[in-house]
Amino acid sequence: MMYDVKGHLNEVLANLPEGVRLVAISKYHPNEYIEAAYAEGQRIFGESHEQELRQKHETLPKDIRWHFIGHLQTNKVKYIAPYVTMIEAVDSLRLLQEIEKQAARNGRVIDVLLELHIAEEETKYGLTDQALFELLDSGLWREMSHVRICGLMMMASYTDDEQQIREEFRHARRLFDEVKTRYFASADYFCERSWGMSHDYLIAVGEGSTMVRIGTTIFGPRVY
Ligand SMILES: *Cc1c(COP(=O)(O)O)cnc(C)c1O
Repeated sequence: MMYDVKGHLNEVLANLPEGVRLVAISKYHPNEYIEAAYAEGQRIFGESHEQELRQKHETLPKDIRWHFIGHLQTNKVKYIAPYVTMIEAVDSLRLLQEIEKQAARNGRVIDVLLELHIAEEETKYGLTDQALFELLDSGLWREMSHVRICGLMMMASYTDDEQQIREEFRHARRLFDEVKTRYFASADYFCERSWGMSHDYLIAVGEGSTMVRIGTTIFGPRVY
């Protein structure tokens, strides 16, 4: 029997406060799982591999809004630029410049988030606090008319220590507030705080997340 996507999706949605959006992370899951969530009205899905995303984009309904959530190599940007809705994990000026170039080529404006590196371990990706402000202070993004920086994204440490996770979300929130004040005070679109995954999204929404990225809780364990 198929995994109960519908039941789990609706459980998650019932836990989300007003104003928090769900990105259903469908990586490694088959189209029929995505279709089950789609049938319930879910439209935002997240993927982390370019080829897998391309196949799903080609075969699934066209009104799905795809978020690219993984580490994106600059040479892959051109493949997703024609259709991707948001690129969540931008962690270098070089990547931002490539998105600008490919978005312009496609006559589009692509929404992006800047990825923070806050967690203790795990990932070598994401901007340190210092790198974040260096990128923003460079001012180069101001000339880019085909990318729109809509907020920040981060992953908390993978730990059972709830206090640590909470502290990391608070750190991200402080950075968001500072970046908003210093660079985007009059930009309404700079409003997204993408934090919270299956194991920590309830903490994240308590700490001001506006967008949660949830896979396992909705679709079950991934088979790699
Ligand atoms: C896979 C992934 C998720 C979803 O993780 P789950 O634990 O399955 O909810 C969220 N964010 C990113 C960046 C991911 O790569």
